[in-house]
Amino acid sequence: MCRHLAYLGPPLTLSALVTEPPHGLLHQSYAPRDMRGGGTVNADGFGAGWFPDGSAEPVRYRSEKPIWSDTAFAGIAGATRSPAVLAAVRSATTGMPVHAGACAPFAEGRWLFSHNGVVRGWPGSVAPLAAALPTTDLLTLDAPTDSALLWALVRHRLRGGDDPATVLAETALAVAAAAPGSRLNLLLTDGAAVWATTWTHALSVRVSPDAVLVASEPLDDLPGWAAVPDRHLLVARPGTCRVTELAEPTAPPHPSPRRPRGDRCATPSSSTST
Ligand code: GLN
Repeated sequence: MCRHLAYLGPPLTLSALVTEPPHGLLHQSYAPRDMRGGGTVNADGFGAGWFPDGSAEPVRYRSEKPIWSDTAFAGIAGATRSPAVLAAVRSATTGMPVHAGACAPFAEGRWLFSHNGVVRGWPGSVAPLAAALPTTDLLTLDAPTDSALLWALVRHRLRGGDDPATVLAETALAVAAAAPGSRLNLLLTDGAAVWATTWTHALSVRVSPDAVLVASEPLDDLPGWAAVPDRHLLVARPGTCRVTELAEPTAPPHPSPRRPRGDRCATPSSSTST
């Protein structure tokens, strides 16, 4: 199963997140530690999306190559600094095509999205959910894959102005109900916040006073990483992180007069505010 990460904080090079850490996405592409029964390597392409400092919209690079073989990306990653990044390496599910369009991040406007997992019974199990989308959305999917459809489902509701936490949680729950046994770790950012679900897959988070890093697997052995429990929604911003059980009402992503239900992420350096 693919591996993904999202970072918000002081500008870092893409290399500092993707290629340099001892267990960064580059290492996870050929030596992942926690694939949980889905694939062995993540060599079916990769992608990175980043917000240039001061920009409200991200730039994206995707390739069907294994990340270790893409020398163009190595150069870009070393020279690119950003305060907000979402990146992923892909292990294609059996039967799904290998090309750049199938790689995360999926993107529109200020949004970057990734899916780590598989939709069981694809495509029949989720055909009724897909049928609710505008036909043009189905005709313009990035790829004929489960992840691209999940992005279309999420994107459709984001376009309508729905709350991102609610969208991610309800999409995961609806697909899990329609396609039992699916693995649905979803990851979304707009450059200011990160939303993620855990549904039968690994996810960890590290919060510091001015940053947050969410990743399928910890990028290093430094302290501060906390595993996100299964079947939870995570909402994080630099310095803050909250996890909420997916079956429960979801926490709002923005400050609200009503205190959201949920647990602070159990990281030693976490400092949550609401
Ligand atoms: N099923 C998705 C795909 O084939 C995601 C892959 C994964 O998480 N391994 O692209």
